[in-house]
Amino acid sequence: QISATRPVIRQLDEGAINRIAAGEVVERPASAVKELVENALDAGARRIEVAHADGGKTLIRVSDDGVGMTPDDLPLALARHATSKIDGSDLLDIHSFGFRGEALASLGAVGRLTITSRAEGHEAASVRVAGGAPGPVRPAALTGGTVVELRDLFFATPARLKFLRTDRAEAQAIGDVVKRLAMAEPHVGLTLRDLSGGGEGRVTFRVSPETGDLFDALYGRLGQVMGRDFADNALAIDAEREGLRLTGYAALPTYSRGAAVAQFLFVNGRPVRDRLLIGALRAAYADFLGRDRHPAAALFIACDPHLVDVNVHPAKSEVRFRDPGLARGLIVSALRHALAGAGHRASSTVAG
Ligand code: ADP
Ligand code: MG
Repeated sequence: QISATRPVIRQLDEGAINRIAAGEVVERPASAVKELVENALDAGARRIEVAHADGGKTLIRVSDDGVGMTPDDLPLALARHATSKIDGSDLLDIHSFGFRGEALASLGAVGRLTITSRAEGHEAASVRVAGGAPGPVRPAALTGGTVVELRDLFFATPARLKFLRTDRAEAQAIGDVVKRLAMAEPHVGLTLRDLSGGGEGRVTFRVSPETGDLFDALYGRLGQVMGRDFADNALAIDAEREGLRLTGYAALPTYSRGAAVAQFLFVNGRPVRDRLLIGALRAAYADFLGRDRHPAAALFIACDPHLVDVNVHPAKSEVRFRDPGLARGLIVSALRHALAGAGHRASSTVAG
């Protein structure tokens, strides 16, 4: 007789639940950097410094000058599904990068996390958590804002640790995330520092806060992030259709790249890697570019938050438009129009 033992249904403990969730939220060091910088931006920071060592595997530290947290906030910040950004009544009405209340809980479950923070009118305090229950809130020294330090990422999930790439590749992915967020928020100053060599480390990326309206600030930031060359070869895009507004810059076909490294797409201020939008970008350039070339562009779609769902995946980098055809059509027609106009100008210059 086969003696099958009856399975026992267990309620997993908080640590296990958080490690499972972390698998979706924190794929690699760059995902941790993304979550922490987004938190700093949501806190209204004007200056953010990101430091990392060994591709973020041993250390990630994000410091900001945002509104900070009170000592009483700290344990809640670490609790799963605890957030100050939504009240849960309307999951489409989202105006912040965060809303799931999962990032800090996840990071604390898979690494050694220390949060130090100070809100105006309160004392500075810090709390630690490493793969289990958070420790006590203790007094700390900090003049304002928040410092989040994450050491030994994935020490609690060795399987994930094995999937990480070289320090160099992970550092590159961190740089990529920081650049995308730098484009999303041109009024914020960002510094990226590689501490691997010890001491003060080496600044690998720095942008100072841009001034002026968003369009001017974006142009300035575009030059800083992608190089003057891109900015000089970019066409300004500004189009609207049925409540969807598209702004930004698209590079002339002559400035195209052999890889899709210079494509920045944002929906309501959030950097996204969305197949629909990437496909639309490609389609817009189809008549102007060879198959092996990739267009360079930084495009922002803005719309009523109810027209787009950002709650598609825990990493929040995919979106669903209520009317996907509308978003695609807007990109394709606005870019084709701009590119055709530019071609026209170029040829009439030659003719004249
Ligand atoms: P979410 O961003 O989805 O709310 P997180 O786990 O990333 O979830 O953060 C939980 C809460 O901790 C946030 O809602 C916010 O109130 C607080 N918090 C996190 N990071 C910061 C920060 N850098 N400055 C101020 N508050 C922060
Ligand atoms: Mg967050």
